[in-house]
Amino acid sequence: MSANERRARRRPGAPIALAVAVGLVVVTSVVGVVASPPAAADGCGTWTRTLRNGSAGTDVHRLQIRLSGYPGYGSRLSIDGVYGPATAAAVWRFQVAYGLTADGIAGPQTFRVIDRLQDDDCTPAHFSYGELDDGCGWGGWGGGPVAASTARTNALITMWKLEALRHALGDQPLRIASGFRSIACNRRVGGASRSRHLYGDAADIDPGPHGLCTVARRARHHGFDGIYGPGYPNHDGHVHVDSYGISWRAPRCGI
Ligand code: ZN
Repeated sequence: MSANERRARRRPGAPIALAVAVGLVVVTSVVGVVASPPAAADGCGTWTRTLRNGSAGTDVHRLQIRLSGYPGYGSRLSIDGVYGPATAAAVWRFQVAYGLTADGIAGPQTFRVIDRLQDDDCTPAHFSYGELDDGCGWGGWGGGPVAASTARTNALITMWKLEALRHALGDQPLRIASGFRSIACNRRVGGASRSRHLYGDAADIDPGPHGLCTVARRARHHGFDGIYGPGYPNHDGHVHVDSYGISWRAPRCGI
């Protein structure tokens, strides 16, 4: 049983004990959470074989989502379930980033680090669905131009890219100011009518301890195709990243 599985098995007991301690109102809400555990967007399952060039399957698909932040500068990793040279290169970059023996083959040492980075709901350790769901505080993934499940999966991929970006920037906190927006929410905040926030694959990054330009420049290494930052209209306080087209615009950063 993996560490994740052990945590998952422990999970139902802990909230109930907490609820008993703090009262009936809390019991009701917490039991509601237990009755509807977070759905695994892609199944976080265990790794049962070494993956290498030529491998194919759902486990390769899962691996590609977790390595989507390591496609190389200006690229995006195809999440197609087929382990080709681009996936091998992404594995190699991930291994280098975490100080592993770099061979481009996903075996036990690579899986160990991925599992360590992963929460029970398949999100990376430092980002959560709750941080990226409806940007107006309404919660959820519905009300956009794509199915809620699609927006949620897009957000999962975005989070793994953000995890790679965060690690590259020295593992300092990166706060997400806005993620997915329903059509109504996007309208309320004055977002562009075709904003990628509507699809769940965009995030507005509050740079935290980093300079905006540092974040904007570095994001180009981690699978973000749309990057808007300082000097682009309405983007002087945050860096917008998304995964659509190729458009990097942050004139005050020389981009
Ligand atoms: Zn944005």
